[in-house]
Amino acid sequence: MTQYQHIWKDGSPVQLGLGKIVCVGRNYAEHARELNNPIPDSPLLFIKPATSAVHMTRTIEVPRDRGAVHFETELAVLIGCPLTRASESDVQRAILGFGLALDLTLRDLQSDLKAKGQPWERAKGFDGACPLSPFVAADRCDVGGINFSLDINRQRQQTGDTNDMLNPMLPLIAHISHQFTLLPGDVVLTGTPAGVGPLQSGQRLSLELDDVLFVETTVA
Ligand code: ZN
Repeated sequence: MTQYQHIWKDGSPVQLGLGKIVCVGRNYAEHARELNNPIPDSPLLFIKPATSAVHMTRTIEVPRDRGAVHFETELAVLIGCPLTRASESDVQRAILGFGLALDLTLRDLQSDLKAKGQPWERAKGFDGACPLSPFVAADRCDVGGINFSLDINRQRQQTGDTNDMLNPMLPLIAHISHQFTLLPGDVVLTGTPAGVGPLQSGQRLSLELDDVLFVETTVA
């Protein structure tokens, strides 16, 4: 497989390699409810490997014979500076860009793993499990009120607003950096709002981030 490289909205490469994708589960109350999950008292973290990243604008390939593959539309934060035990203002200075991600999840397998008390990597870390959009530069200092959405075959499926995050972006990323170091090129996925569901072959996906980024793709 070809190696994934971050790109900017204009198609130019971001001069940083992807190390890891750190994700937070159940960061929107409505989504936790739709899957009958309790809301955790501290952020639920997991990591997708760099090998799960693919360009969202290419056709999305999903595993065929492993049960339902759910889409989760998430705001992706591109980290530009090392963060270790960072403060919120360190985090603010370190955010290089924003994009959109699909946190693809083998939902049947994940339910199985949850029931057994096992980690989720088998359900969330497979090759291609993290389609990433191009990034836009983070030139806004206010990280609240960022809106994003997913349409499938022109029907609105998910809408998110960063003001609805249970763990808001700056304290969330500061908290992550107290667990392990974030490096330039790492990406943080900030959780999915409600409306997740299975991908079907041939679906047309349209994703939008505020008025600044619009991405279209197709499920193989
Ligand atoms: Zn997710």
